[in-house]
Amino acid sequence: MEVMEQEESQQVPIFFGAGPPLYEAPDLGEDASLYMEFMMKNCCYNAIPTSCKLVVFDTTLQIKKAFLALVANGVRAAPLWDSKQHCFVGMLTITDFINILHRYYKAPLVQIYELEEHKIETWRDVYLQSSFKPLIYISPADSLFQAVYSLIKNKIHRLPVMDPVSGNILHILTHKRLLKFLHLFGDTLPRPQFLQKTILELGIGTFRDIAVVQDTSSVYNALEIFVERRVSALPVVNESGQVVGLYSRFDVIHLAAQKIYNNLDISVLDALRLRSLCIEGVLMCYPHESLEVVIDRIVREQIHRLVLVDEERRPLGIVSLSDILQALVLTPAGIDRNSL
Ligand code: ADP
Ligand code: ADP
Ligand code: AMP
Repeated sequence: MEVMEQEESQQVPIFFGAGPPLYEAPDLGEDASLYMEFMMKNCCYNAIPTSCKLVVFDTTLQIKKAFLALVANGVRAAPLWDSKQHCFVGMLTITDFINILHRYYKAPLVQIYELEEHKIETWRDVYLQSSFKPLIYISPADSLFQAVYSLIKNKIHRLPVMDPVSGNILHILTHKRLLKFLHLFGDTLPRPQFLQKTILELGIGTFRDIAVVQDTSSVYNALEIFVERRVSALPVVNESGQVVGLYSRFDVIHLAAQKIYNNLDISVLDALRLRSLCIEGVLMCYPHESLEVVIDRIVREQIHRLVLVDEERRPLGIVSLSDILQALVLTPAGIDRNSL
């Protein structure tokens, strides 16, 4: 495959040793830099599975076909190949599907013409509106620390690993894969004491201004919240404010799977019931639980976040994979996501 030369993968500032921290970080104690150093020593190649499926879309493919192909292949995102420029130019993710539905949906049962007719490149022209946003990628030789940095800095959830020689994409790294790697191979490291502290003590997660959606709200309303707040999932609450479900960006792809995206007036609760394969109930954590318990649960359940709740199941916060990776890997290097 012929590929034009891409930009160098990003350089990461490294903050070691002397100098004040850039912000008031949670004190992880003596072992603070253990996982950061581990991620610096290991390269992205080490985190690539021996076999995996990679779906690539040409930018001339119709949008609707592309999303149906994501569903049919059971993948969450695909790199975009531009055959005129002979290079990868971006990614197509479920967030793009959400943005398209949010922008063009008119009323129940009115066909979304743009979804039916537009090509990926037409959507990108509208969406990017002449602002050039290149593909963000990483090289197999770059460290896993750099991968965490890139995901968090760019506020994305998919990071292609591109072979610098062939220009081929070898794998798409995610927060999930990176934490799993740390969880599996970090076992060879001494167990840091801070794992026994609670997430509240460590301040790992988001604890205020949590974006939630009412169970009776429409799916369109949930999409609006996704677009405005840019969060990856919404705890679903009942009229008493108790958490009764979780609606994630990923769940929106079920609308494509079941071809019901022409009616976004259905309630979030109905949309959750209509999902075919899904997790029953909500995976939560409690303020008294330790970081170790939280990490074990999130890795075991293979999900992107836990909802922090009180005894009455009222939402207190969100503990996301990106919060955990930020705290274990970037914070010890003096890097704060808010200042990136
Ligand atoms: P999701 O959580 O739905 O998989 P992301 O948060 O990764 O989506 O994507 C947010 C936006 O950034 C989308 O418009 C997507 O196309 C774009 N995007 C995602 N990954 C990359 C990347 N590696 N390079 C460039 N753009 C990307
Ligand atoms: P991704 O792998 O794309 O990041 P998510 O982890 O957000 O996907 O979602 C995958 C599935 O797991 C979705 O059906 C979502 O509703 C479900 N899910 C994610 N987090 C939770 C949670 N805390 N409780 C219950 N279900 C969840
Ligand atoms: P994520 O996109 O899930 O990796 O999360 C990015 C940041 O947004 C993390 O700090 C999360 O704690 C936070 N976050 C995720 N979901 C929500 C939500 N529903 N409300 C408020 N913050 C959230």
